[in-house]
Amino acid sequence: MKPAGIYIHIPFCRSRCSYCDFATGMYNAPMAERYVQSLVNEIGSWRELDSPKVVDTIYFGGGTPSLLTPPQLEKLLRAVRRRFTIANDAEVTLEINPGTVTPKVLGAFRRLGINRASFGAQTFDDGELARLGRSHTSDDTRRTFRYLRDAGFENISFDLIAGLPGQSMATWRQNLEEAFSLRPEHLSFYLLEVHQGTPLASHIKNGLQPKPDEDLAAEMYEVMLDGAIEAGYQHYEISNLSLPGYESRHNTKYWTAAPYYGFGCSAHSYDGEFRRWANERDLNLYVEMIEHGRTTIVSETVLTSTDRQAEAVFLGLRMMQGFSFKEYEQRFGANLRAEHENDLARFREAGLIECTGDLLKLTRAGALLSNEVFAAFV
Ligand code: SF4
Repeated sequence: MKPAGIYIHIPFCRSRCSYCDFATGMYNAPMAERYVQSLVNEIGSWRELDSPKVVDTIYFGGGTPSLLTPPQLEKLLRAVRRRFTIANDAEVTLEINPGTVTPKVLGAFRRLGINRASFGAQTFDDGELARLGRSHTSDDTRRTFRYLRDAGFENISFDLIAGLPGQSMATWRQNLEEAFSLRPEHLSFYLLEVHQGTPLASHIKNGLQPKPDEDLAAEMYEVMLDGAIEAGYQHYEISNLSLPGYESRHNTKYWTAAPYYGFGCSAHSYDGEFRRWANERDLNLYVEMIEHGRTTIVSETVLTSTDRQAEAVFLGLRMMQGFSFKEYEQRFGANLRAEHENDLARFREAGLIECTGDLLKLTRAGALLSNEVFAAFV
């Protein structure tokens, strides 16, 4: 079986961004300490006896995991090492928000074996950052990036968001120029989604901010792809690009049916075969459950073979290299071409997919309308 990935959710932030609907709240030191101890207990009591114990990726996501101290992260990594066998060349990622770390802290993170930084740049335009309620400026981003390089981080990923309220193609192009000139090894690119219940949704509803322009966002995606490819990045997944050899090994597990185990509130897990399960989302409830020795798993799904076939297609198709009809047949004993003959013909005609030999791929247009394509296979 494939080696597993470990995801550890750190649900604390310095402030709340206006578009965020993640399971995260405000940082407070006593709760962070309690939460870290809860994570250590949860990891220590992991009981998936038949699942792989070899782990080759660890991902601290959030939230803002860079708000934890080096001793807290060390404690977590020690707990993981006690329970799992960690591959020598494991990819260990920490999500970092600009302005939350000093050179000294980054040096300490690096010495703990954290070798990849996923960096929440989002945009280099200070007006856009302010409208998103981000707690940093573009100068913080530039400075923190320099600190990361000085501390020896040779694998850095940037998050960038397009389609922001009031964002123009001109500011988007400036963003891209700045991002490419810093030359992070990896770029994750998102189109802004306005989630109900967030401050941004009510700002838009009340006319305080303009509605994001979806057509412009789609153009921004195209411009980003052209520029990134010209700058030497490879488009390997719908929303992700990297310099050769720097694809996110952890995130690739989500798209290729590899097992991953999530720890912490709202974390999700998959055994690589038939089972998916999720932890309690609420931070306080999660901590109480751990402290009272109760399970934190609040939902569990046993996948039917139909579920697994659908997942294999819509997750596999996220990878721009394409999806193998032959592998699908070997895995499920089913013929995807025959089963979905009409859908495949319709999408090919619409220019959303292409079939080359054994491979089924999304086109660029298909990447933008991927949900439409995926819906046919669910
Ligand atoms: S930093 Fe990220 S997780 Fe935290 S509030 Fe902002 S968007 Fe949400």
